[in-house]
Amino acid sequence: MKHIFFIKKIETIFLSGVKMDSYTFNLKDLKIISPFLGEKKYKKLSYPIKVGLYTLIENRDAKLFFDLNGEIKFIHGKIPDWIHPNEFIKRTKANDFIYYSSGEYYGGIYDATGEYYVPCFQYPSNNLWQKDIKGIVEFGKALWKDIVEKLKRVSIKDIPKKIRKDIEKIVSIDNRYLKKRAMLLKKIYNANITVLPPDTRHVDYEVIPIIISDGCLYHCKFCRVKSRDVFSERSKEDILEQIRGLKKFYSSDIKNYSSLFLGLHDAFNCSFETIKFSIEKAMEIFQIENSYVKDKNIFLFASVESFLNQKLDVFEYLNKIPDTKVFINIGLESVHQETLRKIGKPIDSSQVRESFEKMLYVNKKYLNIEITANFLLDLSFSEKHFDLMISLIRDTVKRPFYKGTIYLSPLSTENKRDILNKVMELKRHSFLPMYLYIIQRF
Ligand code: SF4
Repeated sequence: MKHIFFIKKIETIFLSGVKMDSYTFNLKDLKIISPFLGEKKYKKLSYPIKVGLYTLIENRDAKLFFDLNGEIKFIHGKIPDWIHPNEFIKRTKANDFIYYSSGEYYGGIYDATGEYYVPCFQYPSNNLWQKDIKGIVEFGKALWKDIVEKLKRVSIKDIPKKIRKDIEKIVSIDNRYLKKRAMLLKKIYNANITVLPPDTRHVDYEVIPIIISDGCLYHCKFCRVKSRDVFSERSKEDILEQIRGLKKFYSSDIKNYSSLFLGLHDAFNCSFETIKFSIEKAMEIFQIENSYVKDKNIFLFASVESFLNQKLDVFEYLNKIPDTKVFINIGLESVHQETLRKIGKPIDSSQVRESFEKMLYVNKKYLNIEITANFLLDLSFSEKHFDLMISLIRDTVKRPFYKGTIYLSPLSTENKRDILNKVMELKRHSFLPMYLYIIQRF
């Protein structure tokens, strides 16, 4: 018997000259849209939007978004027990399941973080709104499994050819497969990416990391993300091999990425040649130009010394990368010498001051570059730490400026209310944007 399908074309798009049709199809109680055409740019909104291309499968209980490799990406529960209708789970490429919480009904989250959602993790972080998400993640996974089981019971002949491949990929993937994928990713990097720059929040942490250096210069006492390695630059062969491996790993889903993170903790300490080589090769091999997502960004960490030592020709080069914003985040931590000693950061407060002044200069001179800085926040710190920070962000800056975000990194999550009050107090003094830094790994 010939199958008659009620499949409807929603829209046609052209992605780097290739025609792509988006279809909707109802299969028993499941509604499928493939590909679901999400936004092309990241936006900060108080309700969830999706950026990129997905396969969307929805039933009475859940709304699931699968990436272009068929891997689960977002889980939205629709059942009454789901914590909040606007909250959801996201799975990262490294197979972390993160819960996106809107906080205590939007109470102060946006002012404190610059975002409408706070990511809650299953690993330790400095998130003041962290909650136990084990139960909700297991629940979300069960909703995913349930829909996949339903799809498995459908004969492939009952699915129109136009979306058959997408469904075949989705049903072939389970938890075990995703764990193996995460292990493969680790093998490609040959390192753990324990932290992403705070600025990656602008693209919801959706970056492709490329490790161009390992270790760091200082091995500060307070730091919980450092490795034991001394700083070393990766070879061009290593970087190229990584980029080729990542191209294969991301496969069809590479169309959903247009931002790079050059890792690890102090990639800005690499030579100009290595930085340039990595960016150009990644842009070329990943064909970032052809991505569906149009927000092109490059993110890096710098240290006080690497930032002070880099010559202006590096900034000239980064500023001229077409249609691309570059964010460099420096760990300044404190401008108070005694606090620097206490936290075990082996630098001088005069270097912190000098870096801050160079940051202001670079941010004013280069339109496409934003240098941002981290300061530590702990209620046990001496008032001098805060007074000197205020004098820097107010008196040195002189008038409000939209670039040069200051990220405050709490050392502890105890006394949340007092920490938030301190953040708000510091914000009132600052002529620069100021937010909390929520430490997130890749
Ligand atoms: S704060 Fe930065 S420099 Fe200090 S140990 Fe951590 S990664 Fe290294």
